[in-house]
Amino acid sequence: MKQRLLFLGPPGAGKGTQASLLCQKQGLLHLSTGDLLRAEVDAGTKLGLEASEIMNSGGLVSDSLVLSIVEKRLIGHNQGWLLDGFPRTLLQALALEVLLEKIKQPIEAVLLIELDDQLLLERLLARGRADDNEEVIRHRLEVYKEKTSPLIDHYKTHGLLKSIKGDGDVEQIAGLIEENLS
Ligand code: ADP
Repeated sequence: MKQRLLFLGPPGAGKGTQASLLCQKQGLLHLSTGDLLRAEVDAGTKLGLEASEIMNSGGLVSDSLVLSIVEKRLIGHNQGWLLDGFPRTLLQALALEVLLEKIKQPIEAVLLIELDDQLLLERLLARGRADDNEEVIRHRLEVYKEKTSPLIDHYKTHGLLKSIKGDGDVEQIAGLIEENLS
């Protein structure tokens, strides 16, 4: 089983659910930038205050802010990790590569979870988080297409990409993921 992983895919594809399951099973560190940012917002830190308005509108918080959050958790952690919701821009991906080269821990696989827009919208509306209303969701999907989806070709070119369809029940998808990452 690969130990240094990245999950890619649109909001609502099930990255968070599957990432949690896999990390629990394999003992990997689960780094979700969305979760980490929400924790900063809840704790009322300066960083959280900076991020919350952008998050509520469905935009992306600045690359430098997200990088600072990830960097301090990756440095010194050698037991394997799964990045979920990061990188989300080409600049984040390039900065991550520089960091990983420095700490000599390259990415071993990138898993793309795909799902049709209509299903994504339905799932996110059912979830009902603070940033899950229809207008904000549509904006997040656009941001994904414009800023994040170019990463698919980037990782394909590097020979790291595996992709699966995210429709099916949680156990079924978990099985598919393990097959692809073993
Ligand atoms: P989802 O995958 O459902 O969109 P996340 O929990 O991954 O939700 O992210 C929620 C919000 O947090 C994003 O819409 C964005 O504002 C912010 N965010 C999370 N990760 C990043 C990142 N890598 N770069 C910029 N913004 C991010």
